[in-house]
Amino acid sequence: MLRRLLKLTTEHAITRHQFGKSLSQFGLIKHKIAQVALDAYVMESMAYMTAGMLDSNAYEDCAVEAAIVKIFSSEACYSGASECLQILGGLGYMKDYPYERMLRDSRILLIFEGTNEILRLFVALMGIQTAGKELRELVKKLRTPFEFPGLVVRKSLERWRNKRAEPKLKLHLDEFLHPSLKGSARKLEYSVLRLQYIVELVLQRHGAKIVDAQQELARVANIVIDIYAMTAVLSRSSRAYCTGMRNAQDEVLMADTVTALAFERVQKNVKELETGMLNNLDCQYLQIADRVFESKGYPIEHPLVRTIW
Ligand SMILES: Cc1cc2nc3c(=O)[nH]c(=O)nc-3n(C[C@H](O)[C@H](O)[C@H](O)COP(=O)(O)OP(=O)(O)OC[C@H]3O[C@@H](n4cnc5c(N)ncnc54)[C@H](O)[C@@H]3O)c2cc1C
Repeated sequence: MLRRLLKLTTEHAITRHQFGKSLSQFGLIKHKIAQVALDAYVMESMAYMTAGMLDSNAYEDCAVEAAIVKIFSSEACYSGASECLQILGGLGYMKDYPYERMLRDSRILLIFEGTNEILRLFVALMGIQTAGKELRELVKKLRTPFEFPGLVVRKSLERWRNKRAEPKLKLHLDEFLHPSLKGSARKLEYSVLRLQYIVELVLQRHGAKIVDAQQELARVANIVIDIYAMTAVLSRSSRAYCTGMRNAQDEVLMADTVTALAFERVQKNVKELETGMLNNLDCQYLQIADRVFESKGYPIEHPLVRTIW
């Protein structure tokens, strides 16, 4: 859908003139078009990677990966359809053009085949369940520090580094990618290590009650989705570049951009999870929602009510 929309929308933006220029020359229009192209690239890369994993038989269960692809793709498709309609202006809203139909059709993708809210909880909780099992073993060992002195020192150093947001990069992901993607490989590894840290933190904070901390779980899922997106575009673009595919330079540019954007979001989500509900406005949101439910609607009085008396 996005590839078709990009074709239709670029044709319109090149031929439609406003203020003495074609729409395609305006920065705001270019920004929208680039975002749709970036999202399409992520979607394709995620889908190819996940399908490849399923085909390879090496991965018995790709339910979490499939959920990640579904969440990202449905939301990016809906926002892409909306942005392309916006570029058409008033024409986009008309039934004679395919945009309003595509926007409506893409809206259902966030609801069926598992709503995106439920899938986000699924992605986060499945990962946390695995981390929880590993953590249980770790906590057991940390309770007998004299038996595992090396582990205690390593863990303390790790915590100190994490508090300063400076985890030690040791996976050497850049060795698996083309050298031009070295910076992005480091961002990916940094994000993976921050995810590990934040999952430990939310588990310590909530224990088994983590299932009820939905706003925090959604942030954890968003970090996971961003990491999966980075992994998919970096491996695809690196391979395209190394094998000399046509327009591989564009792929590298897109992968670098996707990674930079995802990295920013990961940092924001980690920060919000670190500060906790009292400081990241989650509590205020819950409180406001409770007031709306209590009032069974908008709770605020009209500003002129007093003067009417
Ligand atoms: C056009 C269309 C085609 C469909 N085709 C099929 C089909 O082929 N096969 C099929 O099985 N179904 C199909 N469905 C049904 C679809 O899968 C459901 O609509 C979807 O699963 C959501 O369920 P619901 O409508 O009962 O919403 P509800 O379960 O009532 O959910 C309403 C909202 O509350 C949220 N919510 C629910 N529980 C929680 C929770 N615990 N925490 C946080 N948020 C929550 C949901 O995310 C959603 O936003 C179709 C629906 C439509 C509209």
